[in-house]
Amino acid sequence: MIYADNAATTKMSDAAIDAMTDCMRNTYGNPSSLYEVGQRAKEVLEDARDEIIKAIGADNFREIIFTSGGSEADNQALRTAAEIGRAAGKMHIISSAFEHHAILHTLNKLEKEGFEVTYLDVHEDGLVRSEEVEAAIRPDTCLVTIMYANNEIGTIQPIREIGAICRAKGVLFHTDAVQAIGHIPVNVKDDNIDMLSASAHKFHGPKGTGFLYVRKGIKISNLIEGGAQERGKRAGTENVPGIRATAVALKDAIAHMEENDKIIRAKRDRLIAGLKEIPHSAINGDENKRLPGNVNFCFEGIEGESLLLLLDDKGIQASSGSACTSGSLDPSHVLLAIGRVHDVAHGSLRLSIDETISDEDVEYIINAVKEVVTYLRSFSPIWRDLVAGKKEFIL
Ligand SMILES: *Cc1c(COP(=O)(O)O)cnc(C)c1O
Repeated sequence: MIYADNAATTKMSDAAIDAMTDCMRNTYGNPSSLYEVGQRAKEVLEDARDEIIKAIGADNFREIIFTSGGSEADNQALRTAAEIGRAAGKMHIISSAFEHHAILHTLNKLEKEGFEVTYLDVHEDGLVRSEEVEAAIRPDTCLVTIMYANNEIGTIQPIREIGAICRAKGVLFHTDAVQAIGHIPVNVKDDNIDMLSASAHKFHGPKGTGFLYVRKGIKISNLIEGGAQERGKRAGTENVPGIRATAVALKDAIAHMEENDKIIRAKRDRLIAGLKEIPHSAINGDENKRLPGNVNFCFEGIEGESLLLLLDDKGIQASSGSACTSGSLDPSHVLLAIGRVHDVAHGSLRLSIDETISDEDVEYIINAVKEVVTYLRSFSPIWRDLVAGKKEFIL
């Protein structure tokens, strides 16, 4: 089996599993309890927080809130900005059309509550332009939220420039960095970030754990009421084993980032070169300004879902841009945002690899995709029309 869906989730690292099970066995106390095993759990929690602060270039323990993952962190960041905005009479938010649904669905809710949202265009290269962010900022703008790297096409946004613009204009800047953290260098200070969301299961940590960074001085709104955990900003007994494993996984990912980057990038580029040989195919998003492990292609005349099923038969676990899991036939909002037409967007394939994939696996994937695309085209009515000239090729 070849696992090539690391953008959906990653396998936990051995170090993270060991840290987690050790914590479950030995530091099982409630961090709010005053006796010894509780206080040891509290220490584990605060050590993990310190590690994470260091890992992202933050400087104060108050700046990290542990959450149940990226979605919760996104929700809390947007709520925080919205409440600050509402109090100041600023009800305008800037985002982009290809954000994760944790952002887009929260923005839809905020729109129903009276906020106005500008969704910036994403260009054909999968990038938002910082000049366009600047031009969209108004006196009543309370927040800019743009993802660090896109989860489908992997394109890395000009976060530092956008952050600098927001800082200069006095507008809060949030970034969903779930795909970036642990994979490419991220530093909240250098990147001028006010709020950042992260999720452990995207960097070889456990599922159901993540964190939100909020720069010192910003008043955080809480989504979950209850006890005084996380300084009253996120109630509920802390997921101590998960949090410990998160810190270990992140430290590990950062310690090996440079060497892994080289390995993964080389394999990614071989995959891209191999898949480009398929006629009427195209890579989605800029070829270079993308995550080291992301490959995303469209193949004209086929359905991504069928492609995935046949690849699964060949032992390859990948993903398509289309929302097939939700039973919806709508193509990916990300591919539509970069200007792919419906027919083309339907025939997409995302491969997201990590450093454990071998050269043989890469060659196997290339050959398997070539074979399956050819096979699917052999009985595709759309392909027949394209070949017969009844329809024009787009790719
Ligand atoms: C996976 C992902 C999320 C959601 O994170 P969860 O921890 O699964 O809630 C949010 N944003 C992006 C960009 C993601 O890739």
